[in-house]
Amino acid sequence: MGKGGSNIGRPTPVLSPMSKVQVRVPAPLRSFTGGAPVTEAEGATVGEVIRHLVEEHQALEKHLYGTGGELRNFVTVYLNDEDVRHLKREATPVRTGDVVSIVPAIAGGAPAEVVRPAGRPTPEVGLSADEEDLGLPLTADQLRRYSRHLLLPEVGVKGQRRLRTAKVLLVGAGGLASPAALYLAASGIGEIGLVDFDKVEASNLQRQVMYGTKDVGRPKLEAARDRLSDLNPDVVVRTYDHRLSSENALDTLRPYDVILDGTDNFPTRYLVNDASVLLGKPNVYGSIYRFEGQASVFDARRGPCYRCLYPEPPPPGLVPSCAEGGVLGILPGLVGTIQATETVKLLLGIGEPLIGRLLLFDAMSLRFRELRLRKNPDCVICGTHPTQTGLIDYPAFCGISPETTTEAPGHAPEISPEALAARLAGEDPPMLIDVRNPPEWEIVRIPGATLIPLPELPQRVTELARAREVVLYCHSGRRSAQGTQLLLELGFTHVSSLTGGIDAWAQKVDPTMARY
Ligand code: ZN
Repeated sequence: MGKGGSNIGRPTPVLSPMSKVQVRVPAPLRSFTGGAPVTEAEGATVGEVIRHLVEEHQALEKHLYGTGGELRNFVTVYLNDEDVRHLKREATPVRTGDVVSIVPAIAGGAPAEVVRPAGRPTPEVGLSADEEDLGLPLTADQLRRYSRHLLLPEVGVKGQRRLRTAKVLLVGAGGLASPAALYLAASGIGEIGLVDFDKVEASNLQRQVMYGTKDVGRPKLEAARDRLSDLNPDVVVRTYDHRLSSENALDTLRPYDVILDGTDNFPTRYLVNDASVLLGKPNVYGSIYRFEGQASVFDARRGPCYRCLYPEPPPPGLVPSCAEGGVLGILPGLVGTIQATETVKLLLGIGEPLIGRLLLFDAMSLRFRELRLRKNPDCVICGTHPTQTGLIDYPAFCGISPETTTEAPGHAPEISPEALAARLAGEDPPMLIDVRNPPEWEIVRIPGATLIPLPELPQRVTELARAREVVLYCHSGRRSAQGTQLLLELGFTHVSSLTGGIDAWAQKVDPTMARY
């Protein structure tokens, strides 16, 4: 191993065994090293490697070293992701195969002569054909609006015109779609399609930043169109006021270049995946739950699809929706922004897309992890011998938004809010069981109820009097229907589920009650 090098960064006269390492060059310095993000250099220590790199690319010297020959203090150096500069360990020996990363401070901008790489090859053509029709030249307004894009060689005028011809469909107009739609519109995507049929609710505003307080009660598509048109009047916004189904999915997706999956339920996710595979379109995936998020790009032509990852939806009730489980409001902002980033990269044909990679994000530890995904040769829709050649509707059973949950599994008996109110006010009122989770109970509850969260119900049936009538309620009526079904199977006879849950109760019986 190499000795010497205690003199920070200076070349040592000692000819020690040379290791060949990879050096990650930061974007502002790549113009001096041929433009590639990773280059190779030899040396026995971290300091030697950097010195050799500088000898090969002398213009780097003044950026990396001060007049005294020391590494400048706004440059950090990592060896295999460990910071070695702050520990004054440039003498740290390196081995062949190690990775040295140079990371300078970045203030959010850089002088033009530093960012413009020399001799960079033109980015590969994106989704459009070779002889693409990019339409009219950019107008003076557009040149001004997109100037920060035009300065990037990877985008430039041609890339901006390509974005202007691009069409992106966002399925869902909620938490993930909000930042994605805003950034895509700001980026100058020519046409943005939105599929949704909800109205803006006050509980959406914690994360669905496309909407404002004044929009509460309005259809999301209407509010979104106003906001996106205000942000960028050039963008054509097309709206689809329907639930995606096997009947309409292919026609809805067909005109678009990229599909962005911002849905909150499994049936729609599978439908978006299947339709994207059948149409040969990239499906930019994102999902969120509590403090965790996932993102990937499913493009069956170049990698796995969503069903390669998850061949079947999870069993009913295993994965709660945001309405039941909660979600950190910022989380869809992060994941939706990643989706928008991948979308723009796909359209421009630049960078390395998230194809074949599943990005996992944990806000609590603030860590990103990445898993490699492989195409499943037996995948029913994108495998070598696909058995599914059309679309199917998955039953609506999990991760569903609350207002769509009237079908009770197995036809559990129901009681309307009005009827329950009358029974509770009368003689011999029924025993009222709240099967929601404790945080929901803290927000609001029906007076006189007992909390037994659905997962605990099987163990706590002894607390229920079989002779008495029992009414179960939850937020929307779905979990209580499951609970009712369970009690019927256990031999209870006088048991029913509150139709529409506490949300319907708040609307029909007690309008002063908080809704969530
Ligand atoms: Zn597949």
